[in-house]
Amino acid sequence: MAKKKIVVLGAGYGGLRVIKGLQKKHLDAEIVLVNKNSYHYEATYLHEVAAGTHDSDKICFDLKQVVNEKKVTFIQDTVEKINKDSKTVSLQKGNDLSYDYLVVALGFESESFNIPGVEENSLCLVDIPTATAARKHLEAQLANYATSKDVNDLSIAVCGAGFTSIEYLGELTNLLPKLAKKYGFPLEQVKITCIEAMDKLLPMFPEKLSNYAIDKLKTRGVTFCVGTPIKEIKSGAVVYQKGEQLEEVAANTIIWTTGVKGSSVIEGSGFDARRGRVMVNEDLTVPSNEEIFMIGDVSAVMNKENNRPYPTTAQIALKQADTVVVNLEAKLNNKATQAFSFTSAGTVCSIGDNEAIAEVGGKHFKGYLASVMKKGVADKSLLQVGSANVLLKKGRFDFYH
Ligand code: FAD
Repeated sequence: MAKKKIVVLGAGYGGLRVIKGLQKKHLDAEIVLVNKNSYHYEATYLHEVAAGTHDSDKICFDLKQVVNEKKVTFIQDTVEKINKDSKTVSLQKGNDLSYDYLVVALGFESESFNIPGVEENSLCLVDIPTATAARKHLEAQLANYATSKDVNDLSIAVCGAGFTSIEYLGELTNLLPKLAKKYGFPLEQVKITCIEAMDKLLPMFPEKLSNYAIDKLKTRGVTFCVGTPIKEIKSGAVVYQKGEQLEEVAANTIIWTTGVKGSSVIEGSGFDARRGRVMVNEDLTVPSNEEIFMIGDVSAVMNKENNRPYPTTAQIALKQADTVVVNLEAKLNNKATQAFSFTSAGTVCSIGDNEAIAEVGGKHFKGYLASVMKKGVADKSLLQVGSANVLLKKGRFDFYH
């Protein structure tokens, strides 16, 4: 009998962790990995690349470091469509790829919420090219001030005050004094505005911790506009609603971090999804297509405690990957699959290199200790998707300053 073929789409947190798990098993199956790039990137550190505190190289490693070519065939290509009926995947360059079991881990894209001008006039942080473009744009504006004397070159608007935004602002405000020296602009004239629709900032943290983070950023010069939904992004300005009025903040750098949705491949392939996320079965398979597993940011898993889907995080993608490996083995052996269960290990949000807030095991941490925890989480995930070698090369061991 021909070997069953398992195809994994995406080599982010979820997909690469599945590959690592499958490589350890002695399954009688052909394994194929498809990914756009020849490298894995730590999406949780894209804000550092966008602000410029680290080069993209710091958060990337070659897939060859993990993928064992004797066990896995790697195809570098872009997935265009999943054809559920024919059990094939259409690729941008290569021929259609058939599968018996499919693991979809294609991650996230920026969500514009159909607000006019977002795509044309703002910069998002969703992968290495977009984060690098954001950094280059920012530095070009700051450098341009020397000749233009246009104050808007020194004005940065950050749309949204979620995790990505706060972490980006932390890095940016840490780095600005260095950039001011490099490009010769007056630091005191830099204007940073963060615009958020909700009334409450960092609602996933207790108020004391979120206030700590916000106050830190305020003392570093960030102005927060809260309860002010964004209505339009113009070239060089963000238009938002304040009460009954529309107001504008002029800025030549506009960063868009208001939210993400699952890969557009999901809806383009006709899956029943909300914002690119499929509500999966308990064993992480897709209802009506139980040969397909969806994990990470393309999946939605209900938290029975509050009857709402868990937020999409690397933490949950990694945990889902481990369940998928067990369930693929079960399916190959005609055994029953397991239900996925998740308990959050906690939440840590950085506000620059040596500052963070954290809630772990019901305990609260802030400042330097929380930043050490953040680095510990990054190092752990490098081991989970990478290797000891990757950890040694890319890990964060700069605890002592
Ligand atoms: P990803 O890690 O996004 O991987 C998807 C992979 O698929 C990528 O390699 C991509 O190149 C590839 N791909 C995409 N489309 C295609 C295609 N069409 N064809 C082929 N390949 C494709 N989560 C946390 O748990 N903790 C945090 O502190 C945290 N901080 C974050 C900070 C930032 C700035 C951001 C942006 C996110 C953060 N997250 C955090 C969320 C976390 O990064 C995501 O939830 C996580 O990356 C999802 O993992 P994934 O495996 O679903 O997808």
